[in-house]
Parts: sequence; C-alpha cells; structure tokens
Amino acid sequence: MFEMDQHAELDRIVELQATIARAEAELAESMSAFVRSRRGSEVLGAEFAGDELAVALRWGRVNARLGLVTTLGTDLPATWAAWRAGTIDGFAATKIAEARCRILDETLLPEFDRDAAVVAAGTSWGQLQSWLNRRVAADEPDQLEERYRRAFADRRVATSQDLDGMGRLWATTSAVDLAAIDYRLTRLAQDCGGDDPRTLEQRRADLFVDLLLGQSDDNKQPVASATPAVAVTVPVQSLVGADDVPGEIVGGGPVPASVVREVAGRPGTLFFRLLTDARGDLLDVTQLGRFPSRLLGFAVDVRDQTCRFPGCTRPAAVCDCDHTIAHPAGPTAYRNLGYLCRRHHRCKQAPGYRVEQTTPGVFEWAMPTGHTYSVRRDPLPVGRWRDHPEEPDELEWMFAFPDLPPPGQGLADLNPEDLDALLGC
Ligand SMILES: [Zn+2]
Repeated sequence: MFEMDQHAELDRIVELQATIARAEAELAESMSAFVRSRRGSEVLGAEFAGDELAVALRWGRVNARLGLVTTLGTDLPATWAAWRAGTIDGFAATKIAEARCRILDETLLPEFDRDAAVVAAGTSWGQLQSWLNRRVAADEPDQLEERYRRAFADRRVATSQDLDGMGRLWATTSAVDLAAIDYRLTRLAQDCGGDDPRTLEQRRADLFVDLLLGQSDDNKQPVASATPAVAVTVPVQSLVGADDVPGEIVGGGPVPASVVREVAGRPGTLFFRLLTDARGDLLDVTQLGRFPSRLLGFAVDVRDQTCRFPGCTRPAAVCDCDHTIAHPAGPTAYRNLGYLCRRHHRCKQAPGYRVEQTTPGVFEWAMPTGHTYSVRRDPLPVGRWRDHPEEPDELEWMFAFPDLPPPGQGLADLNPEDLDALLGC
C-alpha cells in the first residue's frame, strides 16, 4: 500500500515538472508573440517591447529567451515541440540551441535536432551537455578551426560581486592560454618558499591579483620567473599521417592545430606532446625544447637511478641528463634521455665510443676495441591488467612498461619545426 502511494506520488511530481515545462514554453512563445506583434504597430515603440516585458516579469533581460524562441522556431522544430509537450525543459532547450550555433553545415541540422530532442528527454542536463559536445565534434570534425575562430571572437573577462566583501572573476578565452596561466600560477605559488603560511590556493589567488595589478611584495619571489607549460595529446595516427585529428589539451577539449603551433612557437614555453595509441592510452611523452622539465627529468631519474655507463654507480642526482641522440636531432623525450656522470658524458663524446638507446632505458654501448655492452635498469614493479590479460603490449606507459619495442619509423624525431607535419597541416 505504501509502495503504491509512493509510486503514484512520484508520477504526480514528474507530471508537475512537465506542467511547468509546458507553461515555460507557452510563456516564451507568448513573450515572442508580444514583441513580434509590436513590430507591426506604428504608434508603439517596437524597439522597447522587450524592455517592457522585462519590467513586467521582473527579469533583468529577456533577449536571451526571445532569441531562443527564434532559433527553435527556425532551426530546431523537434526540440521546440518537445519543450512545448513538456518532455524537455527550457534549460535543455537552451543547451541544444547553443550547440546548434556551433554547427556550421545547415544540412546537418534536421537530424541533429531530432536526435537531441530524444536524448534530452532521457538524460540529465550534465549528460545532455556531454552528448551535445561529442555530437558537434563528431558531426564536423574538420571544422574545429572555424568553430574556434568564432568562439574566440566571444572572448571576455567578467566580474561579479559576491557575499561578505568578496567577488568573482571569470574569463572566457583560449583553453591553451588558460592552461598556461593555471600552470604558471601553481609554479609561482610553489616557489613562494616553504615557510609561507598561506595555502597553495591562497598563494595562487594572491599572485593572480599581484600579476594583474602590477604589485609585488618584497617578501615574495619575483613573479615573472615561471615558464608557461602546455600539454597537448596527439593521436599516433596523426603522427604517421593516417589521420589529422587535432590535438587535445589535457583536461580540456580539442585544440586547433593553428593554436598549438602558435603556442609552441612562443619563447620559453614548455610544450609537451603526449602521444596516444588507438585506445587513447599514453604511448610517449615528448617535451619540445632543449632542457627536460622537472617531471620528465624525474621520470628518467626513477628509471635510470645511476649513470648509464657499463658498471658505473654514480647516482643520477649528480649526473647530467644527456640526450642519447644529441638535441635537436634527438628529441627531449623519455626514450632519448639518460643519466651520465661527467666523466662518462665526456667518454660518450670521445672518438670510437658509441651508444644507442634501443628501447627506453636500454643503452647499447660499443667501445673502440669492438666490445659491446648492454646497460639496462632493474625492472620497476609491474602489475597485470585484469581487463586485458593478454594485451599489455600496446600500453607503453613510461612507468609501467620499461621494455618496450622501439617506436616506429617517424616517431623518433620531433622538433618544433616538425610540428606542422605532425599535426597534419
Ligand atoms: Zn659514469
């Protein structure tokens, strides 16, 4: 009996929501009709009909809602019908209309509209937004540059007041720039010194204000020292020219190749290329530029532990992080770096000595006498993939799989000049 009551009550609540959605659609339609009918009038000021609506409804502005009705009526009849029927609400309709504005090819709209109305009726707002993002990207994979150009035209910074004397600021601009800002703030905050009583978030917020207002506190480190860093994933298919999928900024969305090139060309930028395989797994980390970052140096340190000359036990901490194939011919990458003490660094460069890194962490030395030696580090602990018991060979991730087959031809060199070819443009 109790369950039956609850069942009926839940149905009633859901129906109430649909009733609100239908009323919301009717309200929007009536608002639009009110403004349109005013346009035909010669007496009343058509220009200010929307302002009158806003006053009467106690809304700040009504333009967004009027624009939504226009977009739905023109381009998205299925979505509009779903809203009026109460199967989706105004917020979902707004999200679909926003996604529609990102689609350039109008012939794609009817199918997009039908599918979106169906998906929106069965998902939460968050799920709908994810679906829309994927759908727009999948419908027009070649239009990323153009969509970026249009979206970038809307870049802006805004502030608002908050409670208790606080305020908020948000910026809409290039994801690559924002990632570099985020990284720079963290690096500067970490450099404030171990005795700084402020939390990392507090330091980041203070540095943000100091940088924008041009202030500097004598107790703080100079604020211009951190290097911006950007990491972009590049599918292996792009690298070998089989595809020209754009890069993707870590933690963000796809980035047009033109933006990646522009950022990579800025002096002082640490630019990481994360190479991914067909399943989206990380194959390799390459940093463009001469000097390895702390993180890459750390990864090589963990792998090598000591100088890579046969028999030498000088710890990596006092060694040089050497490019096995000299930079710039050889990349600043995990597979091309190795620790050598000063003495054996000079030895490597002496006539008659040769060393190759055949696999990341495996160094084949050839001596003038003709003797050869293989130096490999002790294996790190590895586990098994429960879901893929027999196929770990593709998962060449730096810490987990030290003994990888050598990368294919064309994967070995990456210089900033090669980036155009790499990104397929
Ligand atoms: Zn050594």
